[in-house]
Amino acid sequence: MNIAVFDTHEFERKPLMEACEHANGKHQLSFFEANLNEKTIELAQGSDALAIFVNDTASLPVLERWAAIGGRYIALRAAGYNNVDLQAAKRLGIRVANVPSYSPHAVAEHTIALMLALNRKLIRANTRVRDFNFSLNGLVGFDMSGKTAGIIGTGKIGQITAKILDGFGCKVLCYDAYPNAAFAERYGAQYVDMETLCRQSDIITLHAPLVPETKYLINEERIMQMKRGVMLINTSRGGLVNTKAVINGLKSGQIGYLGLDVYELEQGLFFHDFSDTVLQDDMITRLLSFPNVLITSHQAFLTETALKNIADTTFYNLDCWAAGKETENELTSKFNS
Ligand code: NAD
Repeated sequence: MNIAVFDTHEFERKPLMEACEHANGKHQLSFFEANLNEKTIELAQGSDALAIFVNDTASLPVLERWAAIGGRYIALRAAGYNNVDLQAAKRLGIRVANVPSYSPHAVAEHTIALMLALNRKLIRANTRVRDFNFSLNGLVGFDMSGKTAGIIGTGKIGQITAKILDGFGCKVLCYDAYPNAAFAERYGAQYVDMETLCRQSDIITLHAPLVPETKYLINEERIMQMKRGVMLINTSRGGLVNTKAVINGLKSGQIGYLGLDVYELEQGLFFHDFSDTVLQDDMITRLLSFPNVLITSHQAFLTETALKNIADTTFYNLDCWAAGKETENELTSKFNS
């Protein structure tokens, strides 16, 4: 297959090329740094498959054009697929597969890293020490042990996060549209409704997918239900959080700490270097002005293990299609609506 790889990053070229080599010359790769959109789809002329990432857009017009130029396959180099119009893909006969699990540990561990760095003010402490300022004023944190952590979405990543927090001695509360009793029993976690989770948690961490029902799950009303000074962490998808409401929560002190690895307007921003320009996004610049906000640029997945697994599963999906088979990671065949 000829594969057009969109939104290619330097960090993933090696694992992708290695996985491609294991396929023994079955595939040829064309790497594009551009994000997939209505204009850049033209770069894929002559390709059989697209390999796309989290900030590529496979919307109806893009899919229509992809079908029109003979494209049949889209391999997502990610688990989340909110950027693909699956309904349109199915109608157009385009088969879409994802990498459902590449390292839930990577994301859960980054989630915990954000919590600890915010709590113990590690960024500020490091900056201070580098300036030979060894004062501890303003660096007081809290013991994680004994605190209540609320986990929204207890799938693969949420469960590992719960396990780590249980290890810290936190009381774990959970909310999920489909509760998992066996998991709750194993970690002494308790499923509660969203309002109870918001009212009782010292730390709230989001691990639900972005679907229409979860868009702006964290809004002004929910923030008002949270404990004053709550720590809010989002390593799932930016659209789960109404950023304007969160900014107001930070300004009023209702939110005491915010850790984000994802941001609702991250497309075209995250993964790129704007250090020489004047940033036009006033929301992210406002967020970055708070001392109690820590933002990473969608890097929770970024471990060697995860990159290898992403590349291997992407080529497994492509190999299945090249052999005329279905892959169990196919989203279009599971999609009914
Ligand atoms: P998963 O499918 O294993 O778990 C998702 C959980 O959310 C499931 O238990 C599901 O029942 C629950 N859920 C679905 N709808 C819900 C709703 N309306 N309210 C509450 N819960 C709901 O997924 P996962 O592998 O744990 O990944 C979770 C999310 O993490 C992904 O959707 C993706 O957006 C994000 N993610 C981020 C990164 C990153 O680098 N930051 C990497 C991988 C995944």
